[in-house]
Amino acid sequence: MTPAGASPSPASSPTAAAAPVPADLTLVQTRTSLLGTHTTYAQTYRGIPVLGGYYTVHTGSLARVDDGRRSVAGLPDVTAGHSKASAVGVAKSHGKARGARLAILPATASAPATLVWEVRTSEDKQVLVNADKGTVVKVVDERRHADGTGKVFDPNPVVSQQNQALRDSSDAASAVPAAAYKSVTLANLDTSGYLRGTWAKVVNKTSGKQPAAYSSTRTFSYTRDDDRFEQVNAYYAVDRLQTYIRSLGFTDVNAEAQDLNVNGTTEDNSWYTPSTDVITIGTGGVDDGEDQEVVWHEYGHAVQDDQVPGFGSTSDGGAIGEGFGDYLAATMSQANSPDSATTPWACVMDWDSTAYTSTTPHCIRRLDTTKTVANRTGEVHADGEIWSHALWDINKSLGRDKATKIILEAQFSYAANTSWAAAANTTVATANALYGATDAATVKAAFQARGIL
Ligand SMILES: [Zn+2]
Repeated sequence: MTPAGASPSPASSPTAAAAPVPADLTLVQTRTSLLGTHTTYAQTYRGIPVLGGYYTVHTGSLARVDDGRRSVAGLPDVTAGHSKASAVGVAKSHGKARGARLAILPATASAPATLVWEVRTSEDKQVLVNADKGTVVKVVDERRHADGTGKVFDPNPVVSQQNQALRDSSDAASAVPAAAYKSVTLANLDTSGYLRGTWAKVVNKTSGKQPAAYSSTRTFSYTRDDDRFEQVNAYYAVDRLQTYIRSLGFTDVNAEAQDLNVNGTTEDNSWYTPSTDVITIGTGGVDDGEDQEVVWHEYGHAVQDDQVPGFGSTSDGGAIGEGFGDYLAATMSQANSPDSATTPWACVMDWDSTAYTSTTPHCIRRLDTTKTVANRTGEVHADGEIWSHALWDINKSLGRDKATKIILEAQFSYAANTSWAAAANTTVATANALYGATDAATVKAAFQARGIL
């Protein structure tokens, strides 16, 4: 039925060799079962794959042909009016392109076949861009998503219980009341059963010390004495923060599954490592993973490193990094915790810091100290309190969403080795571009109040 020369040769299957197949097919695979062989071809048209079109030849005692070829009726031609590069640009809001090829979207009852660029992105999306018009025709999320459930502290027991007297007590479950646990949906998980998802990925090994939490039903309910609890808390903290960033309109701010090595050190410390892009969360004192404000702070470093490669290695950049992390921690708690006298928003890591501070409220640092540039010490965390205070003032004046939007947008334009003044001026210019002169003046005043401008 087709010229022999046009037929792909199913050479890997001797029994199938006798069965001629139509032209315009590309061999995908041959599988051998107990009763025969099963050879699948993908449909092409003039060498271009037809999406969803297939042809399968089964040999042996259950010999059969499945003809799943699709109609290419109405296809005007196979010459793309728009380049691959422009299609990649159009698909950008769905992630960074991992590859792009020409393909044919088959005809339907109501629409002719269409030549498209098929772009696959870092968000595991298949984006089809009309190759003539340059418009997005279809977006398919190829990742299998699932929600899970779990118990977390939100953001930590000191804040949620309004109780500065709580103590770690060697990680004892009895040290924190049951009321401090909140049942939540763990969103954007994949279907592996591990705490791995679109925006956060617990990278603990599956066995040995600190093994990765696993649940085939994606139910992750542990108490704090169980080392898997911190994994749940950390996953939740990162997923929620990235979801908030996206709600502000940003699609490309650390838009990837952030690796989390939970309880990865016995130090009373947590950190972000730019070269490996991993957040390591420690167990010293209160397990840092029990305090979402610690996780949010570290995620701030990952955000800046994603926005500006190499950011934070200078003294000024380092202090901006610490200040921004504290700002993120405060503004995430701002969303659903009270700004009370017991636990003011401006006081961060209230639970973690019960292990190493003696005065109340327990805070690792604050966003409302009286410090200005005149009080700089050169230590990045201490100096970060000056920067975070400016950011916090912007938040108080313009509101949480507007302030965070300005700050995140501005950071894309910070130089890796920026000075405080240059970064502050960039933030003012960004506020002006986004919202106009009045808000820009408010931002400028916040930096002036700290002596930065
Ligand atoms: Zn830090």
